[in-house]
Amino acid sequence: MESIDATSHNTTRVIRSCEDRVAVLLAIPVDDLYEYSVPQGLSVKEGSIVSIPLGNRKSIGVVWGPSDNNLPIEKLRPIEKILDFPIIKKNLRDLVDWAASYTLSKRGAVLKMILNTSALKNSQKRQKFYKLTNKTPERMTKARKQVIESFTLEKLQSASEISRISGTSIAVINGLEKLGCLEAVMLPKPQLFEIPKPSTNLQNLSNSQRKAAENLIKSVQENSFSVTLLEGVTGSGKTEVYFEALVSAITSGKQSLILLPEIALSTQWLTRFEERFGVKPGVWHSDISPHHRSATWRAAAEGTISIIVGARSALWLPFSDLGLIIVDEEHDPGFKQEEGVIYHARDMAVARGKIESAPVVLVSATPSLETLRNVKNGRYNYCYIPDRFGQAKMPQIEAIDMRQLNLPNNTWLSTPLREAIKKTLNNGCQAALFLNRRGYAPLTICRACGYRLECPNCSAWLVEHRSKNTLNCHHCGYIELRQNKCKKCGETGKLSPCGPGVERLAEEVKSLFPDAKIDIATSDTMVSPKIAENLINSIESLQTNIIIGTQVIAKGHHFPMLTLIGVVDADLGLIGTDLRAAEHTYQLLNQVSGRAGRAKHSGH
Ligand code: ADP
Ligand code: ZN
Repeated sequence: MESIDATSHNTTRVIRSCEDRVAVLLAIPVDDLYEYSVPQGLSVKEGSIVSIPLGNRKSIGVVWGPSDNNLPIEKLRPIEKILDFPIIKKNLRDLVDWAASYTLSKRGAVLKMILNTSALKNSQKRQKFYKLTNKTPERMTKARKQVIESFTLEKLQSASEISRISGTSIAVINGLEKLGCLEAVMLPKPQLFEIPKPSTNLQNLSNSQRKAAENLIKSVQENSFSVTLLEGVTGSGKTEVYFEALVSAITSGKQSLILLPEIALSTQWLTRFEERFGVKPGVWHSDISPHHRSATWRAAAEGTISIIVGARSALWLPFSDLGLIIVDEEHDPGFKQEEGVIYHARDMAVARGKIESAPVVLVSATPSLETLRNVKNGRYNYCYIPDRFGQAKMPQIEAIDMRQLNLPNNTWLSTPLREAIKKTLNNGCQAALFLNRRGYAPLTICRACGYRLECPNCSAWLVEHRSKNTLNCHHCGYIELRQNKCKKCGETGKLSPCGPGVERLAEEVKSLFPDAKIDIATSDTMVSPKIAENLINSIESLQTNIIIGTQVIAKGHHFPMLTLIGVVDADLGLIGTDLRAAEHTYQLLNQVSGRAGRAKHSGH
């Protein structure tokens, strides 16, 4: 049996106790390990990713350990091959076992999240390199000599490197290859991920920021498991503060993972990172290309990428040396995975940190109750930044009692809010209206018979989407075309929309401010990172005057000229069956108000 090769980790051991058979966990929703025999000459290790036969197809799995069954070896089917990837380390295998039992899932289903199939399918691109053979050319020209001499520092070089160093043409290199003086070898293409350039900004931090940053740096340097809640009001510079922790992790050569709730929509974060660290971070979410996915997966495993920012699925990357996990907006419900393996990425981040002996930082202006409870019980450390950075002040908040206002039917903007929008636009600033309801109207009622249009599948009210001319169920995804005729009584022209959605609100705003450029931002409109980016550019360049949106506008954005936020139907979220309705409504209102007046203009 071969010795452990250079790419494997020191936690690996060659399976000696049971060289001829192993137990494999398959990346399919099962709990049990399957036994396979090991063909002669195959050096299988615990953690090797293997291709194996399963029924009449092929499957992939990870060698979980030696097999202790004593069936005759011929009864076992052989492993087909070992995939050309680093092994899955022991601690990640332990996390699979733990997470499966914690979430009541099958171990194979958890493993499937790690063995991201499209990442493994796209095996790495290879590149042609040359090495010298023992043969020297019979006719030694000046150019040939220069090529041969270019190998004194490096034993392996690509054609372009040889040509650059020796100052000769590719033809000379090809000629030497033909003569057998150079030999071509195909090797994995070196990774494209650059190391971020850490530069500290500690000296420019406010006192409370610096104190928080120093705490985080300390936890990174301790190089052991801890959880710290970084709480700070919106715009207090939490990102700035955890960037210092990243600097510390990069400097000590460790990998870092940052989880963001909506990575596909986080262009501002990515720009900011690039400005600060000089390179793009690795990005991981469901929309990245298969090639990029495969390169990032491998780079995480080989330790050639130092920072990955991603959605919750990034938690399952096979990092080789994780030294810091940051969960930004830790309270965000988007971190909860509701299908397949059901888990909360914030909790799983803590579990991963524990198993990797790495510090975890939870960041929020409105921490979840669970996290606050853990702080209170002394399980988590705590840093707090009480105010906004520099001149920026917290916005002034005013509640308007709509009962006192006697608004005309089918209008939703109160007089004080209209006045405030007018004033804001006159000052050259921007306003945003927040209403957490997609579509045109949340309910359509027949004025002839009183029937409320409901979903045939789940009896939720159908939501009118006028821009698409449809009626949608927001629960199950059912869609039908809008009609003029009541399904119950057959009357036509009696169907009437009740209440506002963002589309309807936009109608009202357009009639009040016909010259303003209004943009709607919801999960229906922000369907791709490109569209989100265009919208953000339009807001940043002040082309957009009024933004109307659902909770997607509450997230982390920083628009210096956005000074007014109007929340329409602010108590809307309190109705419903979610036991967290009050907590989520508070968080959402706090976050959305936090978009106002984040720079020198004050917010309202
Ligand atoms: P948070 O993440 O708490 O909402 P950010 O980190 O986005 O806050 O900071 C809000 C704004 O203030 C950003 O534009 C950021 O660049 C700026 N800022 C915060 N702290 C500093 C600082 N110490 N020096 C310079 N700018 C800062
Ligand atoms: Zn439905």
